[in-house]
Order: sequence, then structure tokens, then C-alpha cells
Amino acid sequence: MGHKIWLSSPTMHGEEQIFIKEAFDTNWVAPLGANVDAFERDMAAYIGIGHAAALVSGTAALHLAVKLAGVKPGDVVFCTDLTFSATVNPVSYEGGIQVFIDSERDTWNMDPRALEKAFQKYPNCKCVVVANLYGTPAKLDEIRAICDSNGAILIEDAAESLSATYKGRQTGTFGQYNAISFNGNKIITTSGGGMLLSDDEETIKKARFWATQSRESCPWYEHKELGYNYRMSNIVAGIGRGQLIHLDEHRTLKKKIYETYKAGFSDIEAIEMNPFLECSEPNFWLSCIKIDPSKSNVKPEDITAILAIANVESRPIWKPMHLQPYYAKHDFITLCAKGHSIGGEIFEHGLCLPSDVKNTEADMLRVINVVRDVFGVEQLDVLEKVLAFA
Ligand SMILES: *Cc1c(COP(=O)(O)O)cnc(C)c1O
Repeated sequence: MGHKIWLSSPTMHGEEQIFIKEAFDTNWVAPLGANVDAFERDMAAYIGIGHAAALVSGTAALHLAVKLAGVKPGDVVFCTDLTFSATVNPVSYEGGIQVFIDSERDTWNMDPRALEKAFQKYPNCKCVVVANLYGTPAKLDEIRAICDSNGAILIEDAAESLSATYKGRQTGTFGQYNAISFNGNKIITTSGGGMLLSDDEETIKKARFWATQSRESCPWYEHKELGYNYRMSNIVAGIGRGQLIHLDEHRTLKKKIYETYKAGFSDIEAIEMNPFLECSEPNFWLSCIKIDPSKSNVKPEDITAILAIANVESRPIWKPMHLQPYYAKHDFITLCAKGHSIGGEIFEHGLCLPSDVKNTEADMLRVINVVRDVFGVEQLDVLEKVLAFA
């Protein structure tokens, strides 16, 4: 059976402990300190954005982004439909009302044409939240242009796409406010954490203020605004500094995993890998497949069940938000006929495969052969014959 092959588990390298030790040695075991400052500075420089606020989670970053965008109770906010719930929940924290926008087939992300249709129906919408699914950039130029022409603020949820680029520019820079995450299974992790990114220094300062309980600079505890306890700890930021050193290396390994799956399934016509645009370079956070039901009767659940027996973790595609019981009353904008959606189709026929940067050639061969077996195609002996997995 062999050892467990994980979807995407943390990969630590050692430098993390040096930065943590520094925090201990100086007794800055607090939600501020040198690691937090340096992690914010280094991450902003890496991404190429003016300012960053380190927070307890990507969700906290998205919450403050929604607050900065000025979303008020009753305001409509257009959101990516096919994503993790953390993309959209913060809208509710501020009393906004999500209207979900269907995906397109080229990147599985928000469809700009459906977004345009949404603005025709809700011309007063002033905020859009777009996510880059599984590390693949959305059609960001088109989405940004539609937001601009409608006077709406764009929030980019780059939680899954850290280090991916679109037309040479890093994701996490396309919105007025942008969020990234360092949760346990992301491309780099701090165990838990996130950052809010913006070119506008004042708004990042405001976010840091809200994140430290909105405490006024005053000898006593004075509060004019509602506050939150959202700041990242100096210990956690130490892990982040150590991880950032290895971000590019992780992306290179993730890309290799994606290309290996692609080659390993190239003779199975029913399988499509999660697609991306020529003008973008995903971070390949998770490699996914979609099965064409006109070419095969194999269901993603069949593959998951057999992978589990082989001690391999896999995961369903995010269930679209418009299909979630919690959001059942919310409007959904799609170009499909009633009752259909592209997001729903990807959910029904798609599957996330193990994309752990620690995967070895033997691990990849094991996963590929299980999947090949389910489709009734012959096993591969070694990867190198067909692939470039060095
Ligand atoms: C992980 C994730 C988040 C939330 O980040 P946390 O740090 O876990 O709060 C938000 N959006 C997407 C798309 C994510 O995958």
C-alpha cells in the first residue's frame, strides 16, 4: 500500500525555526515585532505591491477588504461562485448580500460575460470579489475593466494563487484590496495566517488599526470604532519569513506535478486538467481533473474511493456557493439555461489530486496508475519513458 500521499500538506525547511528562535531570544512572542514587520515588507516586495498587513487569516484579510470597500448592510456584492466559502462569507460579516457569478471554462473562474450581465441587473453594485481558483488566475484584465467602467471596487482573493502571474504581473495586485492566505495546505504556510495587500498606504494603516481593536493612540483605551483582534503573531510571522524563501521552489515543484499528471493522462481522452490562459502562469497549487461525461462513465467519487484504498488523499472540487444551503436564497447569474451552471458541471465531474510538493516520482506513478486503472488503460512502469519527471 505504501505511505500516505497527501493533497497538500505543510513543507517546512528549517529556516522557519531560525526566525522563531529570534522571536524567543528577544522575547517578542507577541502580535507585533520584527518578524511581522519584515514578513510584511518582504511579501509586499515579492508581490510588487506597496503595502501589506499581516493578519491571523486570509478570511480576516478578506473581511477587512470588504470593510475598506465600504460594503454596508443590504449592499449587493458580486462574488465568484465556484470557490471556498471563505471568499464570500466576509461579505455577510458586513451585512452585504452576495450575488454569485458563474464560471467560464477557460480558467474555471468568474466569467466576465456573466459579470457584465450581473451589472445590467444590479447597476448599483459597488463591489466585486474575484478568486483565482486552485492557483489559476482569472481573466483579471477583463474583470478589472468591467469593475472600473461600473465604478465598482475589485477585491482579489489570491489566497490560492500566491506567486501566480497574469500577463507577467503577480496576482494579489489586481484589486484595490487583495488577500492572500498562509493556511496549512496553501503553497506556503505559517500554520495559519493571511495578509491584506494594497498600493494605498492609508487603507493598509486603517486595516492595521481595525485589526488591533481600533485602539486610538491615547494614554487610556479609547475606541471610536468597532475593533477586531486580527493581527498576526511575531512567532507565526517567523514561520512565514522562512517559508517565503522557498515559495518559488514550491511553485516549480507544483508545476512539475501538474505537468506529470497531464502527461500521465495524455492518452485518456475523457480527462481534462484544470485549464489556464496562455498569458498567465498559475502557481499550480492543486492539480485537478475534469471528466468528460460524453467520453467516460467514470465518476470522481469512483476515483476518490479507489485512491483512498491506495492510501492517497484526493478532494472534490469546491461545491459552488449558489448550491450551498446557507446561500440558497441568493441570486446567481449564469449564461447557462435555468438549472445549469458551468461551476456545477466542474463540481460534478471534477476532482483535486494530490499536489504535495514532497511527492516523489514513485508517489506520482502510484497516483497516475490508480487513475489509469479506473479508466481501464494500461499501467505505466516508469514515468521517465513518457514524462520529464527527473
Ligand atoms: C484558504 C482560502 C481562503 C481563506 O484563507 P484562511 O487563511 O484559511 O482564512 C480564502 N479564499 C480561498 C479561495 C481560499 O482557498
